[in-house]
Amino acid sequence: DVSVTPTTTILTKLKYECATPLPLLQQVANNMSADMRAGLGFGPGPGLPMIPSYVENLPTGNEKGLFYALDLGGTNFRVLRVQLGGKDDRVIATEFDQVSIPQQLMFATSHELFDFIASGLAKFASKEDDRFHISPGRKGEIGFTFSFPVKQTSIDSGILIKWTKGFAVSRTAGRDVVACLNEAMERQGIDMRVSALVNDTVATLAGAEYWDNDVVVAVILGTGSNACYVEQISAIPKLQGHVSSSGKMIISTEWGAFSNGLPLTKFDREMDAASINPGEQIFEKTISGMYLGEIVRRVLLEMAEEGGLFGKSVPQTLSTPFILGTPDLCAMQQDCSGDLHAVGSLLYDKAGVESNLSERETVLEVCETIVKRGGSLAGAGIVGILQKMEEDQRGLIFGNGNRSVVAIDGGLYENYPQYRAYLQDSVKELLGTEKSNNVVIEHTKDGSGIGAALLAASNSIYN
Ligand code: ADP
Repeated sequence: DVSVTPTTTILTKLKYECATPLPLLQQVANNMSADMRAGLGFGPGPGLPMIPSYVENLPTGNEKGLFYALDLGGTNFRVLRVQLGGKDDRVIATEFDQVSIPQQLMFATSHELFDFIASGLAKFASKEDDRFHISPGRKGEIGFTFSFPVKQTSIDSGILIKWTKGFAVSRTAGRDVVACLNEAMERQGIDMRVSALVNDTVATLAGAEYWDNDVVVAVILGTGSNACYVEQISAIPKLQGHVSSSGKMIISTEWGAFSNGLPLTKFDREMDAASINPGEQIFEKTISGMYLGEIVRRVLLEMAEEGGLFGKSVPQTLSTPFILGTPDLCAMQQDCSGDLHAVGSLLYDKAGVESNLSERETVLEVCETIVKRGGSLAGAGIVGILQKMEEDQRGLIFGNGNRSVVAIDGGLYENYPQYRAYLQDSVKELLGTEKSNNVVIEHTKDGSGIGAALLAASNSIYN
């Protein structure tokens, strides 16, 4: 059937507008490099936030002793302890636990929230286990992964700008969250201190680099997205005067905020307008797990309304925002049965629609289009970072015999094979064979917990 229907017109237009030919990807990579550079300069320019992490020393592998990680980023907090054995023994033992935060504490005072966290940590740390032992005379040191906006000025301090994600704790905004936790531990008589305050991307880089010293970039592709990399202090004008022994610092690009030159459609613009942060995080809204399913839903709804996809009446459920998740797209794309049975039942279960084979094929084409665009653009972003590093230090990344590793973590990259393939293809296509021989894309899993503990070790007061 080659007749032109309103649905095929919408599909053709969608594919055209979402296309990511090489010149477009190259332009996106170039724009990413330029926006990174702008963000490293002075003043609130047009560039990316490019947030200094104050992480100047990455783990070497020689770290020894007992260290803790504490991760607060949502309705749970996670605690972890790791016994490090240095060069030969590496990680001798790890253990972790997760504590859910009672609803009322999200609206409590700063004191109450941090007391709860400190006592959870204390309970965890006091569990008897002879694999873990602190060196005599030392305080327990903590790497604190805190996934809310903070203004950091040193490795072990950071002012909370505002709570997000449903937290409305009073008397923390404007305060140093490390001091809040340290004081709570003191109130409870716990002999521990925070040695490193980091975000999860930075902790992921540290965790991956511990096992592979060639890791220079870390990317998170989960519900949201961010990337960080190792920068030369001399290439960070906005840190002018900062004294550093290593000459390097991890920079969190906050690349979710990027938007320059992206191929966007009316579906993206309408999703953005309806979001809680219109005009913000446009790259994140194009490439990350929270949004891919929702973009597809919006396309299918228009096809149903304008083109009669799924029959004469528009299925009600399809009008519900976020009714299709990115895992649903993924499940549909794994269906290789002749009648696309799994696609049919998923559409029925999730969106309440009955579909014939040709409609299921259309749905798959829409998924494919949006996922290809997302994966390819994420790849272009990675190449943008590598290009920026190479421009400043020729040969560092693409030079002969070098090996540069990009570590990627997050549920989207981990679970969605097509997305992963598009990302990898895009990186290869952009770099060309010769350069891509030096670049390794590596999947790293749950590295941020150990990474934070390792950063407590490499930034220990006893070093
Ligand atoms: P978070 O980013 O929320 O901290 P994860 O890294 O585990 O946590 O990522 C979770 C996200 O990964 C989900 O929101 C979803 O978008 C995506 N995801 C999870 N499973 C799948 C899957 N099977 N296929 C595609 N995407 C998935």
